[in-house]
Amino acid sequence: MWGRGFLQRARFAQLSPSSSSSRSLLSAASAAPPNLLYSHYQRGRWFGCSTANMAPVRDPNTLSNYDAWRTRHTTANLKIDFTAKCLRGSVILELESQTDKASKEIVLDSSYVTVNSIKLNSAPSLWETKARTEPNGSPVHIAVPEGAAKGEVVKVEIELATTDKCTALQWLTPAQTSDKAAPFMFSQCQAIHARSLFPCQDTPDVKSTYDFNITSPYVVVASGVPVPDETKDLGEEKLYKFQQKVPIPSYLFALSSGEIASAPVGKRSCVCTGPNELKASQWELEGDMDKFLEAAEKIVFPYRWGEYNVLVLPPSFPYGGMENPIFTFATPTIISGDKQNIDVIAHELAHSWSGNLVTSCSWEHFWLNEGWTMYLERRILASIHGGDAHFDFSAIRGWKALEEAIKEYGEDHEFTKLCISHKGIDPDDAFSTVPYEKGFHFVWSLDRLVGRENFDKFIPYYFGKWSNKSLDSYEFKDTFLEFFSAPEYSDLKDKIASIDWEGRFHSTGLPPKPEFDTSLADVCYELAEKWKSKDFTPSPSDVASWTGNQVLVFLNAVQDFEEPLTVEQSQALGKAYGLSESKNAELKAAYYHIAMRSKDASAYQGVADLLGEVGRMKFVRPLFRGLNKVDRELALKTFEKNREFYHPICRQMVEKDLGVSEAANSS
Ligand SMILES: [Zn+2]
Repeated sequence: MWGRGFLQRARFAQLSPSSSSSRSLLSAASAAPPNLLYSHYQRGRWFGCSTANMAPVRDPNTLSNYDAWRTRHTTANLKIDFTAKCLRGSVILELESQTDKASKEIVLDSSYVTVNSIKLNSAPSLWETKARTEPNGSPVHIAVPEGAAKGEVVKVEIELATTDKCTALQWLTPAQTSDKAAPFMFSQCQAIHARSLFPCQDTPDVKSTYDFNITSPYVVVASGVPVPDETKDLGEEKLYKFQQKVPIPSYLFALSSGEIASAPVGKRSCVCTGPNELKASQWELEGDMDKFLEAAEKIVFPYRWGEYNVLVLPPSFPYGGMENPIFTFATPTIISGDKQNIDVIAHELAHSWSGNLVTSCSWEHFWLNEGWTMYLERRILASIHGGDAHFDFSAIRGWKALEEAIKEYGEDHEFTKLCISHKGIDPDDAFSTVPYEKGFHFVWSLDRLVGRENFDKFIPYYFGKWSNKSLDSYEFKDTFLEFFSAPEYSDLKDKIASIDWEGRFHSTGLPPKPEFDTSLADVCYELAEKWKSKDFTPSPSDVASWTGNQVLVFLNAVQDFEEPLTVEQSQALGKAYGLSESKNAELKAAYYHIAMRSKDASAYQGVADLLGEVGRMKFVRPLFRGLNKVDRELALKTFEKNREFYHPICRQMVEKDLGVSEAANSS
């Protein structure tokens, strides 16, 4: 995912609008005293095996007994009901017994989902939904009176409907889409929201193949390969079929439906989005998709999923992106008219290997997904844009984000560890940039330790060995040590023995800081220095050869000046570098923050206009806070005007920021 902390805050706000996100983090941390860390995990690893060869439950965020039963195939027969805003239908789980008739019940995760009936091997069965506990929800217990022989597969068919408390689905009104003609829906199951769609073994430690049979009045996209010949007309509705033949964890189950058009953007890729955005989206991605895929394949090995498509969500999508297989779900702010923000796509594509093919077995080892993905993303982009300086430039930006995150948590905080105990913790609450950037730094440190040439041989070995499987940090360590114990690497023996695995996995705070190649960043800071002088005359050529991210680093440096720019300087900045006219929301937003700080009133309407075009919280919340400081009336007017356009989570956050929420009024 590419959410960078926003998901966690948004979710918390939704549940408890009057509390601050930092409080949730503190209370979450205090819920897990240090002596309990990893106890669940260790119990599973050391003592949990009651039957020989049975893999233990090692994910504290599931209540399922997946040590006794494992889902092998899932069939989702679901109807998307836009009027009632729910999914209804049946889901069939095919579970393989891991014991020899020892287990007499199947326990599944569920959360705010209505179960109407459950059949076991086509016969009505005894089942019960047990009381809800946080953060893991309400387990569904299904009796299997005779048990099943080891290796035998039983079929569990569940009739169900989602509820209005479902945490996995977002329903947009026509007003929240760009052509305002039809409603739109999409799912977001990471981390533990799949259980809110249907009862399942909602753990990344279990992988299943999928059949999707989805009925909707609008076009459907799912995390499987479309089976177009089998789309059936059912009067007002259509049945859309998809297949996912690569086993995937539950958090990668994904659906979206609405007025969706598609256009090719590469040999294996199409872009799907609203008809109004199709042309611009196609232009933005065309040409680069094949390059990204080829670069990634060169680093790891050939792409194994068939198609790689991108679904660009409506402007009110509040997040960055989600690596749902076959169809990455992406923020529309990547469509910036300058191809400068599509690094999100390199990130989500990299997940096709790290995360989707090779998966962390629980959210405690999430860095295996995101740290590796940041590493691959930077390798992909460096190979396309030309080398190490680009890699380091991106890593420098990441390091800054990591420093900020660790500063915000406090450097002793549990959530600043690479491996984070999740006992009693909702993974969304522990979500931050830490697993991304601290994970990246660990992977990169191993790369530098053994040398690029050697590390490049390890990469396909690791991803090959763990394809279609899930692993923990210790299995990663074992794999690394095993690979480099080969005789041809004997000269690396001392270096490898020097790796502080325990320190890397369990220390809080920043990891050791590497030497960066700062050449691409230095020019940004040098230009910013020049702007400190009031008589500096800017010229478009100052930034003409720069990437969008370089301009961003420069703008952030200017924003951090002790003294704001004068109104004249700020206007000259916008004009000389084409910032006020830019379609790039990243650059435009950064510029408007400088303009607002300079009290350049001529820019305020531009801020208001931008706030009517983007719904990604990364931009919306800071812009509203900025506008509120300089022109509260315009801020309130802009919010009222766009209220229906924003996603409910975003709307609620902005209400709080502007002090117009009901909670704020009553307190
Ligand atoms: Zn990611």
